[in-house]
Amino acid sequence: MGFGNKRIALIGGGLGGISFANAALYAGLENIQLYEQAPEFTEVGAGVNITKNANVILDAYGLKDAMRWKSSHEPPCYMEYRNFKTGEVFGQIDEFGNPSSRQIHRAHLLEVMKERVPQSTLNTGKRLTGIEWDAASKEYSISFQDGTVAAADIIIGCDGIKSAVRAHLGFADHPNYSGQMIYRGYVEYSDLSPVAAKELRKTVVYRGKQRHILTLPIGNEESKTARVGVIGFMTEPLEDWVSESWMAKAPVDKLAEHVEGWAPTVQEIIEGLRLNAERGPDKGLILKQALYVRDPIPKWYQVQKGEVGSGIILLGDSAHSTLPHQGQGTCMAIESGVALATILKNWEGDNLEDAFAFYQSIRKPRTDKVTKTSAEAGKLASADVPEGTSQDFNPEALRERMKWIMNYDVLKDVYEKGADFFEGSEKREGLIQAQL
Ligand SMILES: Cc1cc2nc3c(=O)[nH]c(=O)nc-3n(C[C@H](O)[C@H](O)[C@H](O)COP(=O)(O)OP(=O)(O)OC[C@H]3O[C@@H](n4cnc5c(N)ncnc54)[C@H](O)[C@@H]3O)c2cc1C
Repeated sequence: MGFGNKRIALIGGGLGGISFANAALYAGLENIQLYEQAPEFTEVGAGVNITKNANVILDAYGLKDAMRWKSSHEPPCYMEYRNFKTGEVFGQIDEFGNPSSRQIHRAHLLEVMKERVPQSTLNTGKRLTGIEWDAASKEYSISFQDGTVAAADIIIGCDGIKSAVRAHLGFADHPNYSGQMIYRGYVEYSDLSPVAAKELRKTVVYRGKQRHILTLPIGNEESKTARVGVIGFMTEPLEDWVSESWMAKAPVDKLAEHVEGWAPTVQEIIEGLRLNAERGPDKGLILKQALYVRDPIPKWYQVQKGEVGSGIILLGDSAHSTLPHQGQGTCMAIESGVALATILKNWEGDNLEDAFAFYQSIRKPRTDKVTKTSAEAGKLASADVPEGTSQDFNPEALRERMKWIMNYDVLKDVYEKGADFFEGSEKREGLIQAQL
């Protein structure tokens, strides 16, 4: 039975929404429409790291070649840690096996994930303003700022950390300021000395006291997409922050002040950011964002009373935002997408509440744990310990504590735990076996 014939509205076309659109194609949900508020699909930031647990899913969608065309190709390790001042290497985290992590410009990842989604399902300029249940036609009526209205049986809120769908479900909680501002930009390899360019061909953390710089070797030479993505995590009081949107621009000098006296490569990074910022339209400015996260909530969904097949559910940052210190926000949205689409398509009965409850029972323990451990990882990365930047920091231990994230096969979990709810689920393979 399942919900394959239901009209599904996705609200939000960020990496979470677009990844669900792919999951729907993969699982065979045909009746979906995606509504994004922006006039076009776009992503800002400084590149993103997509790890093994999510890459197995994207590869199963058939996106491997397209993604690898614009992503890094097997950097020598997962992450290298260096002393902020001397630049000395503390140690490194090795990769977690194949497929290894891929670093890619956010806009390129969005392009790749849009490639297979039919244009007819993608709607831009659609800012959600209201959701109402229409008792006469037994469907949700979704209103947009441009005055248009759409109908759906199931609504999936992929509208990010400030989700309007989440507010509609009655969660009046406020996101928590993490204590850090993030500065984001790019450096061209050609703006670096050969020594620094070589050092930054891998993911590197310069670990300072309550601050760190993370660099990602995004893209590759072949497709002319190779650049260094730079994210500076800097402890700053929120009082200094004036932008309501949490995202604004700041002079490169603001970041430079935080890292005065840091290692020579860090100074080259600052100079590279400056050169790039000067060339761009924002003359000397880079992105600055207050880093927020929400506490986990008890329930991600609501079903329409008296209607077994209609309901609203959250996915991605709207449901399970996390600090980025294990590179998992997008990866969790990708995992959640394939889990939800598979459950909706293959559910044996017709009770949506049961299907949503099963979905949440699979996903929430994992995303709650990722949220908790990512906050802990942030303290380790920014040396939030009394001794500051002590050398007794053990990357191997960090690798151990992340293995459970990377070596996870979400569909295997769904099929194993869903054996009672899916016809033939015991015969299905998880993603990792299917690709061996
Ligand atoms: C500094 C930093 C680094 C990160 N690095 C990584 C990383 O390396 N790896 C990783 O996996 N994750 C990373 N993340 C996390 C990742 O960016 C997010 O988890 C991910 O983008 C969430 O996707 P989303 O689609 O749920 O939300 P968003 O990306 O916020 O997308 C929400 C979409 O909904 C739209 N929208 C909002 N409101 C409405 C409305 N009312 N109507 C219609 N549309 C609406 C928005 O325009 C947007 O397009 C990082 C995050 C940060 C801050």
